[in-house]
Amino acid sequence: MKQKRFFLQEDQIPKQWYNIQADMPVKPAPMLDPQTLKPVTVESLSRIFCEECSRQELNFTDRWIDIPEKVREMYTYYRSTPLVRAYGLEEALGTPAHIYFKNESVSPVGSHKLNSALAQAWYCKQEGITNVTTETGAGQWGTALAYSAKLFGLEAAVYQVKVSYEQKPYRRSMMQVFGAQVTPSPSMSTRAGKDILTKNPFHQGSLGTAISEAVELARETPERCKYTLGSTMSHVSLHQTIIGLEAEKQFEMAGEYPDEVIACFGGGSNFSGVAFPFMRHVFSGEKKTRFFAAEPASCPKITRGILSYDYGDEAGYTPLIPMYTLGHQFQPANIHAGGLRYHGAGAVVTQLAKDGYMEGMDINQIEAFDAAVLFAKSEGIIPAPESSHAIAATIRRAMACKESGEEKVLLFNLTGHGLMDMSAYDQYLRGNLINYSISDEEIKKSEEILAEMPK
Ligand SMILES: *Cc1c(COP(=O)(O)O)cnc(C)c1O
Repeated sequence: MKQKRFFLQEDQIPKQWYNIQADMPVKPAPMLDPQTLKPVTVESLSRIFCEECSRQELNFTDRWIDIPEKVREMYTYYRSTPLVRAYGLEEALGTPAHIYFKNESVSPVGSHKLNSALAQAWYCKQEGITNVTTETGAGQWGTALAYSAKLFGLEAAVYQVKVSYEQKPYRRSMMQVFGAQVTPSPSMSTRAGKDILTKNPFHQGSLGTAISEAVELARETPERCKYTLGSTMSHVSLHQTIIGLEAEKQFEMAGEYPDEVIACFGGGSNFSGVAFPFMRHVFSGEKKTRFFAAEPASCPKITRGILSYDYGDEAGYTPLIPMYTLGHQFQPANIHAGGLRYHGAGAVVTQLAKDGYMEGMDINQIEAFDAAVLFAKSEGIIPAPESSHAIAATIRRAMACKESGEEKVLLFNLTGHGLMDMSAYDQYLRGNLINYSISDEEIKKSEEILAEMPK
């Protein structure tokens, strides 16, 4: 019988993460401290992030970084995640391509976010930190952090965008099951929140308000409380490389090697995770793999973003990051793939896109849901709306193979399941979804705002 799924034994799970920053042919421009406009240092970063993550962020020399033993132990609760050959989808498409996916939806919280949340919580604990804060929109990152904090005996305070808090009660319940304190943002518990509510008592919240509150809380007691982020930063991408490193070994078992690697793209962490371990063989000249970032047409930073220094958050608290960005004030359309509604790409992926190592692909939300439903019917898994963008991009590539008759090997990352997103599927099935594409005027407006940023 032909093999469907490939697993590693627990002792084959990689012992190190891959730090692409050591290998990049051209290093990214430095991140700048928003106050001094000087390159950030470990010391300045560690005012809000834990020290080890701050060191990893600025590590441009060590190719391999040891995964702490305890983090590896917690990885065994759900890793290795299976590498799956999508025979069902291949048949539905009638493509000669060999389609594989890495199934990160099997993690206890249902997404890849846990790969970094476990590491960040562990390092905080080691550094004598007692509390962690963060913001969450749809709730994937908040859930991963809530569970990780509980495992290592930390208190987690999660600020959730008020409108999501009210519209997605089950994600909030999941965070509360893991013992996190979840506050709808804006709230009266911080100065930033009070200011916003005084001006507008009915403010529905945004990631910007939630970040401002989470950072303010961490800054009050920097010796015992740290802020954490689930995407964009290099240390988050580093932790996610466990995905691609496992996949590399699993492809050996399958006797194949991917010609194309495809991932959905929010801030870039899962893309980095699945792609970077394969990209190192492109740097060395051994392989010619192509890499595709599937972004929503409503928030297309790789294909249409502007190369500029910009803040990672709406409030302007984070370092200035050299990024392909639509501007930190950009408000993308309210598509269902909440995890992809981020305005910019991290510094490393930005440099790699600039240097031609990766390509963007813009996907409309209806194409994403069409792909999701075809995938569900042929593989039995209901994917997260975010992951569905990667599936749609993979289907485009597989259909190109059908046209040309090429038997390419395609790999995509299934970042999460969609079982908490059934109301979005309901709307799709009732024909209530519409497509959003960013207009040229919006891009122009972003360009004008970004013209004010440091060069
Ligand atoms: C957060 C999230 C994403 C997007 O984030 P990246 O940092 O770009 O990976 C994609 N899929 C799921 C399920 C998510 O939770």
